[in-house]
Amino acid sequence: MTICSRCDDSGWVCEEHPGRPWAGPRACNCGAAGMPCSLCNVPEDGQELRMPDGFETDVDKDGWRH
Ligand SMILES: [Zn+2]
Ligand SMILES: [Zn+2]
Repeated sequence: MTICSRCDDSGWVCEEHPGRPWAGPRACNCGAAGMPCSLCNVPEDGQELRMPDGFETDVDKDGWRH
């Protein structure tokens, strides 16, 4: 299995530090919003972005935005 080195395979990176994962055990905790990983979380037509694990209930807490 290949783990994305940019986002740790979470599919999301820190918006301020695009080289760091935004979710998962090595997540960047700087407080910036997350953005989809440009290496592995690029939806094609008709597809949806991958959401980070456990990312269901607190969408509007902070962090994620369109
Ligand atoms: Zn950061
Ligand atoms: Zn990635």
